[in-house]
Amino acid sequence: MTDSAFDYDLFVIGGGSGGVRAARIASLHGARVALAEEYRYGGTCVIRGCVPKKLLVYASHFPEVFEDARGFGWSVGDTSFDWASMIAHKDTEIDRLDGIYKTNLEKAGVTLFKARAVIEGPQAVRLLPEDKIITAKTILIATGATPFVDTDLPGHEHVITSNEAFHLDKLPESIVIAGAGYIAVEFAGIFNGLGVDTTVIYRRGNILRGFDEDLRCHLRDEMEKKGIKFVFDDVFTRITKTDDGKLCGHTSVGHDLVADQIMFAIGRNANTKGLGLENAGIDVRRNGSIPVAADSQTSCPSIYAVGDVTNRANLTPVAIREGHAFADSVFGNNPRTVDHSLIPTAVFSQPELGTIGMTEDQAKDACNNIDIYKTDFRAMKHAFPGRDERMLMKIIVDADNDKVLGVHLCGEGSGELIQAIGIAVGMGATKADFDNTIAVHPTAAEELVTMK
Ligand code: FAD
Ligand code: NDP
Repeated sequence: MTDSAFDYDLFVIGGGSGGVRAARIASLHGARVALAEEYRYGGTCVIRGCVPKKLLVYASHFPEVFEDARGFGWSVGDTSFDWASMIAHKDTEIDRLDGIYKTNLEKAGVTLFKARAVIEGPQAVRLLPEDKIITAKTILIATGATPFVDTDLPGHEHVITSNEAFHLDKLPESIVIAGAGYIAVEFAGIFNGLGVDTTVIYRRGNILRGFDEDLRCHLRDEMEKKGIKFVFDDVFTRITKTDDGKLCGHTSVGHDLVADQIMFAIGRNANTKGLGLENAGIDVRRNGSIPVAADSQTSCPSIYAVGDVTNRANLTPVAIREGHAFADSVFGNNPRTVDHSLIPTAVFSQPELGTIGMTEDQAKDACNNIDIYKTDFRAMKHAFPGRDERMLMKIIVDADNDKVLGVHLCGEGSGELIQAIGIAVGMGATKADFDNTIAVHPTAAEELVTMK
């Protein structure tokens, strides 16, 4: 496998979820591997994505826990939240994880370069700033993505994105979040939970386009009940600063939304700008992402790409799976591809959402006959302290063969639940298989095996 004509067998650009997994596995397969990371090891997920986000989600749950505790007989005294202390604690954890990722790469025998890498040719990269050229038989692009901010929007320089939200000096009293995808919905829950006056502004009529309609409506209603305000069918046209230091978002229908912070969560762009793709003739889409074949090969045969930069399913476990499959295929004599068709996913909104498989609309398009099983109930944990929060569970079944096509959940624990349900649905479970499973009582999940 080793070819001494090159400095390395594999050069990985990007030390995030996909790049780290690919580098480690290729090295364990015996390849001589180097990796360049320009910022911190672990990438978006660890440094400013899944991990810090989930920690903030946990932090933002406590006010409801304190409130509900009273219903269970507890007297809860004065409580207060210290944003600076939470952020400092979170940063310590991120430092720890950054170190673990680096150590694991080193232990696997990967040579690390703390540098920006630019593609110089089909089998060469240039390391910046020192301008060093390194050759490799194969190159893997795993450079991820960055928040998109519309730089044509007047006043765009005043807004924050999820990157900055993790490092605010203080918790704002009010925030307006633009967008209604994963990040907007999750951060709306975080800020609202922490007591921030939270508004979401979105260009269409309902949150989380692409998710099951019932789920979207249910979550929107629950978020509204918790105090989050929505402005639909509207967009910002201009952001200005007010005399008292706040921000004012002027909208297309003439609203002026004033808040301490305005956050944009309107999608992410692949990190390919200035990456030198043209030096190796790599095709690129208009949005900057790299089209790849099923085995993650780009239009340049010696260069592969995995993770968010390819804009397939932009999730950490998918980037990891793609990186692993690439390394096994090219260096482990075990060619395999990743199945992107049945990916369980959770939105860590409040309440949480978990989903796998087809939405009702997709199932109607794909099948002759479908059956819908749906339940909407107040879980015991919420009913007892008097919290008006409902859980939605929906199972979509192909009526011709009883196969479960999709499961959609909104309510506490949905993220945890959907992981296990994903196994059953991935194995081709039928509704009868669900029904034949004995319920675990008393749980909310038992509804999944008792729905008629
Ligand atoms: P990244 O993890 O982004 O890694 C790319 C790395 O490449 C970065 O470290 C970057 O510094 C480096 N780099 C870029 N260009 C160069 C260069 N030229 N030279 C050297 N280094 C370079 N996914 C989930 O599954 N669950 C979640 O709960 C979740 N929450 C999220 C929350 C937020 C706020 C965000 C933003 C994302 C979240 N995601 C979540 C998505 C997840 O973080 C990404 O899908 C995942 O990190 C993609 O991994 P990657 O390897 O493709 O890229
Ligand atoms: P999403 O693609 O999920 O959502 C983007 C949102 O911004 C959509 O509501 C979109 O509207 C809107 N939008 C897009 N362009 C514009 C524009 N020009 N003006 C106004 N609104 C616009 O992206 P996110 O940034 O929320 O997250 C990026 C990805 O990261 C996610 O798709 C997901 O893959 C991953 N992620 C996963 C998480 C998880 O697993 N829990 C958590 C966070 C992120 P429209 O629907 O109309 O296009």
